[in-house]
Amino acid sequence: MSEPRLWENWGRTTAAAPARLAVPRDEADLSSAVASAAREGLHVRAVGAGHSFTPAVVTDGLLVDLQHLRGIEAVERRHDGTARVTVRAGTRLYHLHHLLAAHGLAMTNLGDIDRQTLAGAIATGTHGTGARHGGLSGQVSGLRLVGPDGAVRQVGVDAPPGSPDRELFELSRLGLGTTGVVSAVELEVVPAFWLRAREEPWPMGRVLEDVEAFATSADHAELYWFPGTRRALTMRNDRLSPDEAADWATGRSGLKGRLRGVRQEARDLLDGELLSNGVFELANRLATAAPGLTRGLNRVSSRALGARERVGPSYEIFCHRRRVRFREMEYALPRAALADVVRELDAWLRRSSEPVPFPVEVRFAPPDDVWLSTARGRETAYVAVHQYVRMPHRRWFAAAEAVFLAADGRPHWGKLHHRTAADLLEHYPLHDVARVRRTVDPDGVFRNGYTDAVLGLPGPSL
Ligand SMILES: Cc1cc2nc3c(=O)[nH]c(=O)nc-3n(C[C@H](O)[C@H](O)[C@H](O)COP(=O)(O)OP(=O)(O)OC[C@H]3O[C@@H](n4cnc5c(N)ncnc54)[C@H](O)[C@@H]3O)c2cc1C
Repeated sequence: MSEPRLWENWGRTTAAAPARLAVPRDEADLSSAVASAAREGLHVRAVGAGHSFTPAVVTDGLLVDLQHLRGIEAVERRHDGTARVTVRAGTRLYHLHHLLAAHGLAMTNLGDIDRQTLAGAIATGTHGTGARHGGLSGQVSGLRLVGPDGAVRQVGVDAPPGSPDRELFELSRLGLGTTGVVSAVELEVVPAFWLRAREEPWPMGRVLEDVEAFATSADHAELYWFPGTRRALTMRNDRLSPDEAADWATGRSGLKGRLRGVRQEARDLLDGELLSNGVFELANRLATAAPGLTRGLNRVSSRALGARERVGPSYEIFCHRRRVRFREMEYALPRAALADVVRELDAWLRRSSEPVPFPVEVRFAPPDDVWLSTARGRETAYVAVHQYVRMPHRRWFAAAEAVFLAADGRPHWGKLHHRTAADLLEHYPLHDVARVRRTVDPDGVFRNGYTDAVLGLPGPSL
């Protein structure tokens, strides 16, 4: 147990001054830390990598950091090459990739960074892109979790539908840590695979003409649209068969092949700098000092990023380094609403001349049945708006949120928004959520101000 200290999240949008910090060495240690805090009447929250923009982590009670609970506990292989893998909850995704790769395995889809912990990522519904490939919580088939009395429970997808264990599982695989502290996660993983990434600048109008065609034009399609311009950088990743990956590797052997490899690495470095790192930071600083230059800078960025193709292990293609700090709001929309939403955002940006040097990101997901998934029950397009950490974000985000709400949008649980449980009731089974919480956490040990706001209190009614 350590002395209290101020905690701040990555996006510098929220902070906490917990009474106590616990960094348990193992699950038994975690159980006793939770149970003794609960006995003393303290609230308990877990922290992952602090990459949520909402105050999902914040507590004035006990903050639990699971950094020592990392690594793979068990691998159960199936004949078709897939496997169920038990992973300790505090494992960072970038670490997990390598642990899985050593077993010839991989997660089937990922978001665009891998700094998060596994438990933190699933708790807020972290997702990547893919018209047929859903988010991380959908890859979870079971969990071990520590309740307010310190008891460890195992819940999973194998419990009969509608049973208390199945309901507890549903809320634990995406539920903002309101059912307890997750100590281990069972993931459904696939044989390791490679991706071919094609990046191409497109006129935004070409995407909007037929959104469905773009969303399904690759296994994993997404784009970055530069505000104030009509251009987008499209990114389309396709999964390669083992033979295709081997052919590509053969093409990279020999002198010519190695030279092509060096050119690719240089290009990757340059584009990474332009879109997410050093040069991009410089452009954002310029926009902060002279907001009037923003549209011009966006035009330059959108033209500087050209077409390129890369091939690599799935996690290297899915995930990027993001060294420039920003704030973000992201909404999940019915896919059919995307074109109108983008046109509305464009119209507002042109009317207001708001300086926004960060691109707008568009991604896709299929419908799923996870209770609190933002893609629950509908074909989804995600639209994320960002703002550089040193520039004001409120006007831009408020305008964007109004557009998203008019299109029946659902906010990402880990990104900035102003929705409350009363608003979210039409999208999610919040009465069931309250009932399950009442059973597993009757005294509300795992609540905080954010969970009260977005899920309501644990109990029979909201
Ligand atoms: C640069 C950046 C890029 C991002 N990219 C994406 C993206 O591509 N796709 C996407 O969907 N999101 C993305 N996000 C959002 C991010 O994935 C989520 O906010 C995620 O929850 C962060 O994980 P974390 O480990 O930092 O968790 P934290 O933010 O620390 O915690 C998140 C929630 O999980 C709970 N929690 C953590 N550990 C446990 C545990 N062991 N048991 C129970 N509850 C727990 C916390 O209490 C909190 O409620 C991004 C965020 C940033 C800053």
